[in-house]
Amino acid sequence: MTKAGGDAEEQNDASGSADSTTAESWRQWENFARAQQLGQIGWWRLDVTRNVLTWSAENYRIFGQPIGAPQTYETFLETVHPDDRAYVHERWTAALHGEPYDIEHRVLVDGREKWVREKACLEFDATGALLGGFGVTQDISERKHAEIALQWGVRRNELLTRIAARLLQSSDVQGVVEELCAEVMQFLDCQAFFNYLVDEEGGCLRLNACAGIPEDRAREIEWLDYGVAICGTVARDRERIVADNISVGADPRTAIVASCGIKAYCCHPLIAQGRLMGTLSFGAKTRPAFTDAEIEVMQAVSQLVSMAMARLRMEQALLEADRRKDEFIATLAHELRNPLAPIRTGLLVLKRTGGQGPNAVRVQEMMERQVDHIVRLVDDLLEVSRIRSGKIELKRERLDLRDLMDQAIEASQQFLDANGVSLTVVRPDEPLMIDGDPVRLVQVIANLLSNAAKYTPSGGRAEIAARRVGSQVELTVADNGVGIPTDMLPHVFDLFAQVDRTLGRAQGGLGIGLALVRKLLRLHGGLVEARSDGPGKGSTFVVRLPLALGVAQGGPQPQGSRSAPRVLIIEDDDDAVHSLSMLLRAQGANVRTAFDGKRGVEAVQDFHPEVVFIDLGLAGMDGYEAARRIRAMPEGRDTIIVALTRWGGETAREHVKKAGFDLHIAKPTSMGDIERVLDFRR
Ligand code: ADP
Repeated sequence: MTKAGGDAEEQNDASGSADSTTAESWRQWENFARAQQLGQIGWWRLDVTRNVLTWSAENYRIFGQPIGAPQTYETFLETVHPDDRAYVHERWTAALHGEPYDIEHRVLVDGREKWVREKACLEFDATGALLGGFGVTQDISERKHAEIALQWGVRRNELLTRIAARLLQSSDVQGVVEELCAEVMQFLDCQAFFNYLVDEEGGCLRLNACAGIPEDRAREIEWLDYGVAICGTVARDRERIVADNISVGADPRTAIVASCGIKAYCCHPLIAQGRLMGTLSFGAKTRPAFTDAEIEVMQAVSQLVSMAMARLRMEQALLEADRRKDEFIATLAHELRNPLAPIRTGLLVLKRTGGQGPNAVRVQEMMERQVDHIVRLVDDLLEVSRIRSGKIELKRERLDLRDLMDQAIEASQQFLDANGVSLTVVRPDEPLMIDGDPVRLVQVIANLLSNAAKYTPSGGRAEIAARRVGSQVELTVADNGVGIPTDMLPHVFDLFAQVDRTLGRAQGGLGIGLALVRKLLRLHGGLVEARSDGPGKGSTFVVRLPLALGVAQGGPQPQGSRSAPRVLIIEDDDDAVHSLSMLLRAQGANVRTAFDGKRGVEAVQDFHPEVVFIDLGLAGMDGYEAARRIRAMPEGRDTIIVALTRWGGETAREHVKKAGFDLHIAKPTSMGDIERVLDFRR
């Protein structure tokens, strides 16, 4: 087969005579040619006897060849996409044996991929020898690309649904991440993935799972600081990073992935309910960039993983609350049953003796004590539910704290005596005036005293003292009793929390008292803090309440502070803000608060604080970023910036120091921490 010019063929057929039939057939040819162009359909004709292969003009256009260029089967095959050549050849060979020829395949035109559909009808003689054939070629790129995108979309949705279902069923999200990411890698043709999780203890990232890098490399990058490499930067800024055309040495942040042969990289933060939980990233070694659609899939997967992690966290919190409630119900049942047995016995005795005789009075007194105990328990319970539903109302009046101390001591003295605990009272000389509800405040102090009695072995000592500190009053109840383990200190104020249940039961407690104390004090704008050097070392409870208005200004300033330092607190947790500002005000500080990083940075501009406390886990702009911005401002250059974290320890301290903080404090903040910060300032 050799060539024939397509256009020449069409024109030869159309030229000749000038009569009307010829003119008509010329018009028809013209229409036919335009129809081919519009429909992007070309034709070819093969005449074996003349050894001629003819192409129409549109056929040349579809295959991207100059019109009239000589064609052979071999030159045609060269235009076919290399991956489809074997298939096309196989189908054509089959067509030569009489099978239908109707195929779709790709061609490469100027390096661009096109899709065509080819259909042919071959003619054979009686012996089966090929005479020739006619075929059409249609450019179907548009439809085919839409079809491919649709199929990809369907497969993507199937993948995401599978992942969502797997995550929903799993109670170990961290454990299934590897398996899920392997599927994602296969779908997106990626060769690597990295999943880092926030390490609460160390304040950095820890590699949870990865693929596509050698094991020793994975070990090297097991721990990552915020701000380091791509994943650390994503964790710090809480924003996705997409890196294309990665090459060694170009950007220091991509050094790690570049050294693993990764050319395209995309890392998403794992965030749910404003909380950063880690990062998830994918890398490709075979191509320089990801498409937008691929990045969307990675984002969707990251969101699903984040949501699953948040769900598990909530589940665990609920289970813990449920467990505490179960324990509480068991304790409550026990506590209510204990006094019932002696009451029942007492009733029997009274019935038998008819309420007469020497024992009757003692029995009645015993029954009264037991009933009082039940009433106290029920009152406590009612109080909790009243406070929880916000139904409690304070009847405020101006009070001298010394009177409240006296009343509480009077109410608790008998219990202290019964438990063999002696009480020392350090009564201040000056009046300590506060605005508060006397009943509630006596209840608070009596509760602390009765705890001192409960948790101090017989023969022990307790002390109650009060003094004025700046614009506040401070009341302390200390004992040399059983003490509290350090890890339990922040939790003793939680509802139903008890350090030692067996002990609590023997003493008739429900784990409600301190929760009530804290709630009642908060209603008064005050706070309470527990201190202990550990088991067996005694406990001290420190209560702070604001001095009554008009009294606060007149008193002496706290020791050592020459001028009131301006302190800004950037923190989104109400409780933490409340207690920290109370402690700071007690030290005479002029305190301002901001509930997010952005407003915190703005506040620095007009407040010019000397000290700024920043919570590292802020939602939105996190603590690191807020500190960086404050430091970059002229107003913040000399400011002392203190990091507030939920973790403590040397690693955390080192870590925040490196990030530009002057000091680090683990929450909940204590009076000692505040003094340390203010000493640092001085
Ligand atoms: P309860 O005393 O009814 O158990 P509270 O809410 O008053 O409940 O106290 C909670 C827990 O705190 C107690 O169970 C106990 O473990 C601990 N606690 C409270 N006061 C003291 C104290 N003075 N010394 C040691 N532990 C204490």
